[in-house]
Amino acid sequence: MSARECVIPVFVPHLGCPHRCVFCDQRRISGSAESASAETVREAIKAAAALPRSGAKRQLAFYGGSFTAIPAAAQEELLGAAAEAIARGELDAIRLSTRPDAIDEETLARLRRCGVETIELGAQSMDDGVLRLSGRGHTAADVARAAEMVRAAGFRLILQMMTGLPGSDDEKDVETARRLIALRPDGVRIYPTVIVRGTPLEEMRKKGEYREHTVEDAVRVCSKLLPLFEEAGVPVIRLGLNPTEELSGGEAAGGAYHPALGELVKSRVMYEKMRVLLAAVRPGSRVTLGAAERSLSQAIGQKRENLRLLGEVLSLEEIKVVPAAVNEGEIVLLSVENGGEL
Ligand code: SF4
Repeated sequence: MSARECVIPVFVPHLGCPHRCVFCDQRRISGSAESASAETVREAIKAAAALPRSGAKRQLAFYGGSFTAIPAAAQEELLGAAAEAIARGELDAIRLSTRPDAIDEETLARLRRCGVETIELGAQSMDDGVLRLSGRGHTAADVARAAEMVRAAGFRLILQMMTGLPGSDDEKDVETARRLIALRPDGVRIYPTVIVRGTPLEEMRKKGEYREHTVEDAVRVCSKLLPLFEEAGVPVIRLGLNPTEELSGGEAAGGAYHPALGELVKSRVMYEKMRVLLAAVRPGSRVTLGAAERSLSQAIGQKRENLRLLGEVLSLEEIKVVPAAVNEGEIVLLSVENGGEL
């Protein structure tokens, strides 16, 4: 999402979900128990309309359920309230998230009629075994079919994937990313698996049927995914669940929950780039690297972890990163001294 977008969230917890996926409890994830009605939609838009407009595009987002799987009349009611606001010029667009097996031509025609611009599909994995163990109730072929239909109908397509689901591993998660890229989405969200309290996944872990996807596991695999999406020109618009008081306060019973997961992953990506860049530098050298101002803290790492590790692994006398006129996320070697050579 660009800085010029203002999202008005409307929560529809589990509305339309044919059953529960093993990792999901939208009420605990978001901290909201109330489901939306046309009145909720009107109130949310009214509250947002009172704020200064500041040129940002105003989008209403239905999230937390399977929007297109709810009965058509209920969809019409919720979308109708948003469409009225579009007609009055108080709202610019509507986005919603749904399941891949709840997309058909009739549904897409309804969404188009009501002013929906962006459709987010929860793909989660492109491995049928992983989808089955996760209780998703759809296949990878459903994801591909729905994505094609959404794109062909002219909507913006956002795909969501998860890492560390039951039965998955780094290889399967990387393959999922490759297959999502092939579907040419306008953006992706990556959600490493969190064990939410009270979910079937928590039970599976207790019974030894699921090995927890730790923060370190998530950082490792996501640091492989980010460069893939970047090279393909697919923006990663979210990495990790939005931190909430509920999740931080204990509803996240394990797994890859960290309030700054995205930063940890970007920092690991920078570490890998620096390791490649310094591969030929002799032990005992003093090296200076350059990064964009905005990437400095990611290059240095939390508590200077990246520099400490690189110094140890490569036996460097000194390593530092200074601001340089390069693109965000880029890293360059500025100097090597003290007997080191390239
Ligand atoms: S992951 Fe999506 S489809 Fe599955 S239970 Fe949660 S909201 Fe429903």
